[in-house]
Amino acid sequence: MRVLITGGAGFIGSHLAERHLAMGDQVTVIDNLSTGVITNIQHLENNPSITICIDDVLNVALMRELVDQCDLIYHLAAAVGVDFIIDNPLQSLTTNIRGTEIVLELANQSKKKIVLASTSEIYGKKNGHVPFAEDSDRILGPTTVVRWNYSTSKAVDELFALAYWREKRLPCVIVRPFNVIGPRQTGQYGMVVPRFVKQALLGHPITVYGDGEQRRCWTYVDDALDGLVALAASDRAVGQIFNLGSHFEMSIRDLAYRIRHLAHSISEVEFIPYEKAWPKGTYEDLVYRTPNLDKIRKTVGYDPKIDLDEALTRIIAYFER
Ligand code: UDP
Repeated sequence: MRVLITGGAGFIGSHLAERHLAMGDQVTVIDNLSTGVITNIQHLENNPSITICIDDVLNVALMRELVDQCDLIYHLAAAVGVDFIIDNPLQSLTTNIRGTEIVLELANQSKKKIVLASTSEIYGKKNGHVPFAEDSDRILGPTTVVRWNYSTSKAVDELFALAYWREKRLPCVIVRPFNVIGPRQTGQYGMVVPRFVKQALLGHPITVYGDGEQRRCWTYVDDALDGLVALAASDRAVGQIFNLGSHFEMSIRDLAYRIRHLAHSISEVEFIPYEKAWPKGTYEDLVYRTPNLDKIRKTVGYDPKIDLDEALTRIIAYFER
């Protein structure tokens, strides 16, 4: 099979490229290196089964060629990370909306199956510790809070994909990952785990925002890949939306202490008020984000296996290297 991965030099994209190569597939990666980095895929360069294009999904002529040559598309190219979105709101909207529109339009011309990476950020904020199901309501803050840019742009992507499926029968699968973590993820754009690990290993203060009581469920990248590959291969998944996550949950406060312990670090844990961490009016945090995984379990037998301690241990070892 010939697989096209947009955003293939990113954290998840590069692991996905490796997975498909290991499955014996031909892989083409396109990435503009805005948040992806070449070192994520450099070790694959001499593999005859991979083609690497450092270019933009907004390059329609090139994308047309790449889409024509493939059997399956994973569209992962996106502006991601709360810091990145807040620093680059315009670029984020353009990449996430126009980029996806182009990829969907081209995929539709030859009816190529497409797996669209959306986000659990779609659900927005919510009071109460109730897991998000795929048909849960979305509760967002005002458009003036830049954070919601990402959720909104991804919602537009989902609406485009659903419309292509309903009106044109474009075979697409929409996936909403919940806090995926692993080697190669960078803390540069906000993601908390690589930030805390780096801080712990360097002996710097571990920066917990707010009181740290906010909770997340962490999904190790290998489990996320199992889900992605299974959904891509499933005819039953077409035209549908799936949560992709785990129930390995922890508060950010406990995460800081856990990482400090596992990294044998002497870092202090520092609690930083939100007003100091973010420019006023840009950020709003979510207290809970827990997935309901019934649908993906029933459809493709998804069963995440790598618990948080194991995931953190692997990530710490990666950063140490
Ligand atoms: N966070 C933190 N310190 C940091 C970076 C993030 O306490 O240096 C918190 C952040 O406020 C949020 C959680 O960690 O409550 C997860 O943040 P991340 O940006 O990784 O993902 P998301 O908010 O999208 O779940």
